[in-house]
Amino acid sequence: MSSGLVAALGPVTLVRGDIGDAQLVRRTLEEHRVTSVVHFAGKICVAESVRRPDYYIEHNVRRASVLLDEALAAGVRSFVFSSSAAVYGVPSGSPISETARTEPISPYGETKLAFERLLAEKEGLLWAALRYFNAAGAHPDGSLSERHEPETHLLPLAIDAALGRRPALQIYGDDYPTPDGTCIRDYVHVIDLAAAHLSALDALSSGTQLGAVNLGSGRGHSVRQVLGAVEAALNRPVPTLVVARREGDPPTLVADIERASALLQWRCDRSDLATIVRDAVRSRR
Ligand code: UDP
Repeated sequence: MSSGLVAALGPVTLVRGDIGDAQLVRRTLEEHRVTSVVHFAGKICVAESVRRPDYYIEHNVRRASVLLDEALAAGVRSFVFSSSAAVYGVPSGSPISETARTEPISPYGETKLAFERLLAEKEGLLWAALRYFNAAGAHPDGSLSERHEPETHLLPLAIDAALGRRPALQIYGDDYPTPDGTCIRDYVHVIDLAAAHLSALDALSSGTQLGAVNLGSGRGHSVRQVLGAVEAALNRPVPTLVVARREGDPPTLVADIERASALLQWRCDRSDLATIVRDAVRSRR
């Protein structure tokens, strides 16, 4: 585990190691008689992937393929993978369905797509590539906040800027072809995402092949709309500074969630922007 929080794991057996360590993975799968794998481990920053593409290939594809091969050798037949909307690149339409062209514009997106292709090649494997849109929010009990080192995500940075813990929030470009010029994203609550993983495991265990499934709310919000929601939740302004576009950022990413609704009974009850922001704020107070 190179990032992430042990406290977020709950009452589970934790084996620390590297998914690229074949011996450790083999031993762990055998000792715990693992029948399904949910693979969350990966590098997640678009900007970092632009600077260090080889590092992303190494972790998100090569080491992940060690995990996959060992899982198959150990008899695992269901595999759930954390994929991303970044596989689509700059979509030609909105909302984006799973059949849309996949042309990533960042090494991060490339590595997610490459691993999806490895999954699709494996005969007899039941798999799901859950293409997360913008995971956001926090557990409603407020006990655990999103935490990355360094933090790069819009919502925690905006909340911290409003609370005076950070300098002004940098808006990465306000000249996009969107109504207010800032990027539009589909924010989805982490609690809804968690539920989708359990549904995916159930579906795979009962023999349903899933393949790629979008997980979003089906609604898009601009950076400025997110900042407005943070201001409303905190009742104070978010100081901002408009800077250059961030490389690898498409203007609009909004999910078509019909497949998730049909296959996973996806309801995403908590993924309206106000609830996401309220839960995120509560966890960061
Ligand atoms: N964003 C921004 N300023 C920041 C962080 C993010 O303007 O300090 C924008 C970013 O360009 C994107 C949206 O907010 O359009 C969400 O970015 P985030 O990094 O949270 O998630 P990503 O879309 O990269 O998965």
